[in-house]
Amino acid sequence: EFRRAARALISVSDKTGLIDFARGLTTLGIELISTGGTHAALVEAGLKVVDVADVTGFPELMDGRVKTLHPKVHGGLLAIRENPEHEAAMLAHGIEPIDLLVVNLYPFQATIDAGADFDQCIENIDIGGPAMIRAASKNFNDVAVVVAIEDYAPLLAELEANGGATTLALRQRLAQKAFARTAVYDAAISNWFAEQIGADAPDFRAIGGKLALNLRYGENPHQQAAFYATGERRYGVSTARQLQGKQLSYNNIGDTDAAYELVAEFDPERTAAVAIIKHSNPCGVAEAATLEEAYRLALRCDPVSAFGGVVAVNRKLDAKAAAEIVQIFTEVIIAPDADEAAIEIVAAKKNLRLLIAGGLPDPRATGLFVRPVAGGFLAQGRDNAVVDDMDLRVVTKREPTEAEWSDLTFAFRVAKHVKSNAIVYARSGATVGVGAGQMSRVDSTRIAAIKAAEAARQAGLPESLALRSVVASDAFFPFADGVETAIEAGATALIQPGGSLRDAEVIAAADAAGVAMVFTGVRHFRH
Ligand code: 5GP
Repeated sequence: EFRRAARALISVSDKTGLIDFARGLTTLGIELISTGGTHAALVEAGLKVVDVADVTGFPELMDGRVKTLHPKVHGGLLAIRENPEHEAAMLAHGIEPIDLLVVNLYPFQATIDAGADFDQCIENIDIGGPAMIRAASKNFNDVAVVVAIEDYAPLLAELEANGGATTLALRQRLAQKAFARTAVYDAAISNWFAEQIGADAPDFRAIGGKLALNLRYGENPHQQAAFYATGERRYGVSTARQLQGKQLSYNNIGDTDAAYELVAEFDPERTAAVAIIKHSNPCGVAEAATLEEAYRLALRCDPVSAFGGVVAVNRKLDAKAAAEIVQIFTEVIIAPDADEAAIEIVAAKKNLRLLIAGGLPDPRATGLFVRPVAGGFLAQGRDNAVVDDMDLRVVTKREPTEAEWSDLTFAFRVAKHVKSNAIVYARSGATVGVGAGQMSRVDSTRIAAIKAAEAARQAGLPESLALRSVVASDAFFPFADGVETAIEAGATALIQPGGSLRDAEVIAAADAAGVAMVFTGVRHFRH
């Protein structure tokens, strides 16, 4: 169904492309109305245009807060053409129809991105613009609404092709796009407001995303994908500067996030930490005096899996660490910073992506985690529990030694970042066997022990790295069998949340072997 556009209202903050577009409308015989700044720009370009103040009979009020909020404007946008009552109302109150609305909103997102103060941000909340956009969109049957500069040219083309008229199909598409525009706009305001007042897990974080990167494909080549940033101020893959290498893929971004969140658990003032991630699970994590040493220990845990992995470090990347990392094929390195010599070493590997995040995220920060399910999504706060804050309780006859304590907290910190059922064997500040994502805890325990033996074989060591290790479990052992498997493999101490019906049996199995066990009272499921 065609609608001829006789009168257009233009009110735009971003004047890009405005003059050409407005001239095109004038050429088609469309009358123009516009607000202060837009009006001035059009007059300066020599175009004939009516000031909206002359339509409403009111000047712009209150620093522009009230410009177009008037029945002469909103009646003109909302009136249903060929509806006798609406026509009568228009006639009675001198309201003339507006057939085309062109608006782009006050740049709220750009204002907060520029670090403007609170009052400036508030002033950049557009009121009249969204009101007009919603009015015109609701009345899509009669009115066309344009909210994006990229739509100017196609609209002009359509108007020219149809003798100054638009089709219903186009008006519907424009209305749908316009409602999305106001939704995203309000989401940005809500997100920012939540941050200002310290509100927890604001509802709009999930939908207020801004396109950050168009991805070639998703998890698989037949899936479309894109990366959206929510504007949450958290160091990591969304804040990172990519210094070199190919464009990040969907899987790279997921693994890089997993790797960086894991190393962020380690205070860089206390220790240098490295994590190597494959398919979102760590295949090696270590802490040491230097990144170089930590990387070597992390790699020893599973050198076969580390091939093509993502490496995260918790300190400024230095040349010695960089030189070690580039020895094998690695997809991504992410670091809070890197020195010149390290950057130069990485530069020799053209495809290797180097990301500089600018800082480490706070593992204790709140946040929103969203996961789709058919027909909806689940939302939860992020797992911000940290082992240092837990009430750790020794439940066995034997207390862990000092060295065991250190490895126990290390292993539990890592287990938080391993897919359930998660079992982590650790020794001297390094993982030596990781059992991830199994459907039974005892299987994860067995697999991790097999990996620890294999790691020793790869390193040319005479005995399994599980010997004299400690073991962390992300959730309680439901039976004694998992504990017995770990002890058989050589573990001397265990850490787990506790809370099983069979805790007594589990503790007895540890006591029988003279093994120490610690309960954390906190579970780290990760699915
Ligand atoms: P101009 O530069 O033409 O003076 O202003 C254009 C901007 O004003 C547009 O971004 C438009 O969305 C916004 N706008 C139009 N009417 C109103 C209103 O009544 N109140 C507020 N706050 N903004 C408006």
